[in-house]
Amino acid sequence: MASFSVITSATAMNASSRIHRLLALLSLLLATASVSAFETVVIDPGHGGNDEGTEWRKVTEKDLTLAIARRLEKILREKHIQTVLTRHCDAFISLDERAEIANLFPDSLLLSIHFNGARMFDVNGFEIYAFRHSPTSRTIAESIQQAMMENLRSKNRGLRTDQDYAVLVRSAGSAVLVECGFISNKAEASRLTSPEGQEALAEAIALGVMRIKPLINTDPPEADIAKCEIHARKHDEAMKAKEGPEKKSAPPKKVVSSGSKPKSKQRKK
Ligand SMILES: [Zn+2]
Repeated sequence: MASFSVITSATAMNASSRIHRLLALLSLLLATASVSAFETVVIDPGHGGNDEGTEWRKVTEKDLTLAIARRLEKILREKHIQTVLTRHCDAFISLDERAEIANLFPDSLLLSIHFNGARMFDVNGFEIYAFRHSPTSRTIAESIQQAMMENLRSKNRGLRTDQDYAVLVRSAGSAVLVECGFISNKAEASRLTSPEGQEALAEAIALGVMRIKPLINTDPPEADIAKCEIHARKHDEAMKAKEGPEKKSAPPKKVVSSGSKPKSKQRKK
């Protein structure tokens, strides 16, 4: 009796695992059948010009982001992927302009490149950001994260969706921001400033993009609605901050233009 029940449950398990395999295959086929992937990768080297980003031991984030972006562009072009750079030289480009450049290309992926710095010098590793309401961006971010985990010696600090960074929210298509590592960490900085380390990093990001490109769909309309709501809320907050508190007797306050360049080294993305 006992052996019969074992055989029965083993048979049932085999049948169940066959069904699971068939279902997995079917869902993969369905996903592949409705392909509508991004056509252009807009590579965004973070910071530039007066905005140096983070800086440690004469290594500046703005120079590193441009170096990686150029390598990434070359690799993707060799794979016949259309690419655009938001900046080609050491120039200041506003966050709005970066998103606007991406929005010139329908079905684009905005890939923003950044580096981190921390006062605790042992902190190291890469982290990836995606807009939480964009399933496509999250899928692309996961693919890049996986490729970086497989091919780099850096620590994976995880995929984050808790920051509404301007480049993620203001771009109409998919957008992913990669914090490639900590230049405040001596070992990581020496890797990231070496040609071999930079090439390995660019190769890993490119691999993550290439792997996922044929398998993803565009976002559902809810993603656009969420972006619009956040945009509207931030706009209202900015207007309220400009107007200031409503005190009739108070003397007029000097309003700092939102277009002025911030002096702090750590910038909003
Ligand atoms: Zn940055």
